[in-house]
Amino acid sequence: MRKNIVAGNWKMNNDLSETEELISHLKLQMVKEPEATVMVAPSFTNLYPTFQALRDTPIIVAAQNMHESEKGAFTGEVSASMLKSVGVNTVILGHSERRAYFNETNELLEKKVKAAIDNEMTVIFCFGEELEDRKNDKHFDLVETQLKESLFQLPKSAWNNIILAYEPVWAIGTGETASPEQAQEMHKHIRQLLEKNVGKEVAENTSILYGGSVKPNNAKEIFAKEDVDGGLIGGASLNAVDFVEIVNSF
Ligand code: PEP
Repeated sequence: MRKNIVAGNWKMNNDLSETEELISHLKLQMVKEPEATVMVAPSFTNLYPTFQALRDTPIIVAAQNMHESEKGAFTGEVSASMLKSVGVNTVILGHSERRAYFNETNELLEKKVKAAIDNEMTVIFCFGEELEDRKNDKHFDLVETQLKESLFQLPKSAWNNIILAYEPVWAIGTGETASPEQAQEMHKHIRQLLEKNVGKEVAENTSILYGGSVKPNNAKEIFAKEDVDGGLIGGASLNAVDFVEIVNSF
């Protein structure tokens, strides 16, 4: 059975003391056992302190990116084994900001996903169309290409460690959310693509998260849709009260 997951992407926000403060608020807010698997993704410098501070909680710590090589002359980069050495076994790959500002292509992401899977990590793989694609009715095809070029050549066994995050670029950080119906329509399409290209079992068992301006006031309605298994939360995850309200929206 697929899991419900809520993951907070803290992006390039919060220094160490701000991160510690957010974590202590998070711990205070999470009074009841969450029904969803909860993850948070701090910046690289805050990964280890976050891992240490959340050790006694069920919250999983994820990285926001990693390099596809194991080691070597790649100044400024971080490898899968480095992440694992500080207790981080989950990584977000393919976020639209990485694609847009750091030229991450489907081809490069294929390599990154493979490196993460080879290192027995869990991948939260982000993808989604731009507004122009949706206006031109190309959104279904575009998403299919993103999945085909980065994921569909993986062996079936890899899918135990893949979480998908559909994030329409026009809804990220804009306050504009896909309607629950638009999210469901795309998530259903994604599940059908999984069934066609990987198999029925993988299609049924893979969690597909929605991301794009999810807030406490819209999370319930979006998460209630049949093929939406939770959310990847940006802005609202920086506020412990809002984030925990979203976590409790199942
Ligand atoms: C994101 O960056 O993954 C995201 C969904 O951001 P926001 O919730 O702020 O739209």
